[in-house]
Amino acid sequence: MTSLDKLGEFGLIGRIQQTVELTQPSTILGIGDDAAILAPPAGQELVISTDLLVEGIHFDLTFCPLKHLGYKAVAVNVSDIAAMNALPTQIVVAVSIPPRFTVEAVEELFEGVKLACEAYNVDLVGGDTTGSRAGLTISVTALGQVTAGQAVRRSGAGPNDLLCVTGDLGGAYLGLQVLEREKQVWQADPESQPELSKYPYVLQRQLRPEARMDVIHELRELGVVPTSMIDVSDGLASEVLHLCQASGTGARIFTENLPIANPTLEVANEFNLDPIMCMLNGGEDYELLFTVPLADHAKLKNHPDITIIGHMVEKNEGANLITKAGQPVPLRAQGFSHF
Ligand code: ADP
Ligand code: MG
Repeated sequence: MTSLDKLGEFGLIGRIQQTVELTQPSTILGIGDDAAILAPPAGQELVISTDLLVEGIHFDLTFCPLKHLGYKAVAVNVSDIAAMNALPTQIVVAVSIPPRFTVEAVEELFEGVKLACEAYNVDLVGGDTTGSRAGLTISVTALGQVTAGQAVRRSGAGPNDLLCVTGDLGGAYLGLQVLEREKQVWQADPESQPELSKYPYVLQRQLRPEARMDVIHELRELGVVPTSMIDVSDGLASEVLHLCQASGTGARIFTENLPIANPTLEVANEFNLDPIMCMLNGGEDYELLFTVPLADHAKLKNHPDITIIGHMVEKNEGANLITKAGQPVPLRAQGFSHF
């Protein structure tokens, strides 16, 4: 193990720089100068987004491996770029590191960052590195490109547009429940071995979420342009309300249509949690929620990664969940307690 003191800030940056590969044509200069130089092609607009992850607030190093944390920090930013219908191109990464960290630990964190860069085809072009007297923080800023005028905002939905979500919901939240339970068991008895191997799906959803760039590419191939879009970071209910508010519409989503994976359902049952509640308010699934014109129904209805969960309505109808019995229940951003 090497202490950070010994290597120093510049030594550390040098190590990060050594293994970085640049693949984006718009990257002219990466790590090593006062700033990176980028040259986006003519006719493209730039989109940019930042997320800050703070130890004790957004992650718990008791159960979050550093490599996963690095990957997730990039993925959640790429997810924001995807939610604009843009393609991610570069990131910069700022970290503040407590003295207890070794060089090897920081390298593990950046291993995860680089894995995500490869997965999403983005260049790590800079960042900042400092010490921390509190916990670890990692802030990623992602840049992306989109043909001028093709970015998708939250505000473009109209009444009758279909409301669609990618993948399945609730898994990340239940993964967190598993991790928190095992942490408590471990704190009570540090000799005990955490019981995690039973829950690969929900743990992966929590610890290593993926941005749905695959769906952005597929929608382009299908010739489907969403009228509005957002990524599901805080929970489906909250994101539906965001689309409604920005677009000046209401929405209807149907309980029966909400997508949940079998392993997620099993964990919800084990924890005695309402699966609908987990899907609506769980958060951190990083799926895409978007609207499309009704005319695109045929193109999406059998898509394996996309579920039509409802549709937009006039604003005065409000945003409602329609139960199996046909009962409308107003969507709330949190604290859903009607079931
Ligand atoms: P400055 O003093 O001008 O801020 P730094 O010494 O902080 O310069 O950074 C030197 C170079 O290393 C810059 O290109 C910067 O973007 C890059 N860099 C610093 N920290 C990181 C990091 N954590 N990840 C990627 N690049 C970094
Ligand atoms: Mg600096």
